[in-house]
Amino acid sequence: MPLPLPTSLSPSKVSSFTDCGLAFRFSAIDHLPEAPSVPAVRGTLVHAGLERLFCLEPQERTQERAQVCLTEAWEELRHDAELVELDLDEAAQATFVQEARALVDKYFRLEDPTAIRPIGIELKLEVELGGVTLRGIIDRLELDEDGELVVTDYKTGRAPGERQEQQRLTGVAFYSLLCERLFGRRPARVQLLYLADPVAIISVPTDQSTRGIERKIGAVWTAVERACEREDFRPNPSRLCDWCGFKDYCPSFGGEIAKADAYRIDQEIARAERTDAVDAHSDTVAAVA
Ligand code: SF4
Repeated sequence: MPLPLPTSLSPSKVSSFTDCGLAFRFSAIDHLPEAPSVPAVRGTLVHAGLERLFCLEPQERTQERAQVCLTEAWEELRHDAELVELDLDEAAQATFVQEARALVDKYFRLEDPTAIRPIGIELKLEVELGGVTLRGIIDRLELDEDGELVVTDYKTGRAPGERQEQQRLTGVAFYSLLCERLFGRRPARVQLLYLADPVAIISVPTDQSTRGIERKIGAVWTAVERACEREDFRPNPSRLCDWCGFKDYCPSFGGEIAKADAYRIDQEIARAERTDAVDAHSDTVAAVA
């Protein structure tokens, strides 16, 4: 039986499919749960702190206020399920917050936030392209001194080496395409702020990069459709396996794909039962009314 198609593509899904078709399937189609990691949750905290900073008036966006914003974000995050699941003891929590604080301080070495004119923070964008829904979240959209759009994405990991260069360019072109389709204007630049280094990598989208990402998205979607039809997503073992949370399901590591099928089908049945229950409740209410 064909596998269900994923509901959308995002920059991370395109990269995931390109890196390993089977990992893509486990994440985007089977929706297998993935254990949270310290770097990912720390990234969430830093993003939340910077999001708060840019809700302040420009003159208030100082380094001291940024640390207050981080403290507020931490107070909110400390009860979040993902953080609780990390099960950090007191000392590990202190290190976790300290490292997030250091990243926020390093942000100030990359730009002056009082000079930024944001027009959108944590923007969820969605467009249709050739029958595919494209989704992406832009950390910050702003206007430059000439009134042109600028997309900014914060990265809390290290700047990419040569091997991840293609992935970086795919993400940049994807964000630019989303803006162009939604706002009718191509951003003047897309900047990735790697806070740990700290270094800013700035790209200027062009006709060529736009055509390239449209072709790439089309090719990935066609390949996904074919793989779903044939139930044929293959593992692609590489160094990325070291960080993959799906080894229990991956035949390259002695796992069984059938366990992923079972998980997905259980979830589908539970969803259908919830829908039936809601429908039955609505029918009862309508009958009483
Ligand atoms: S363990 Fe490696 S080969 Fe297997 S699904 Fe994960 S990334 Fe792919």
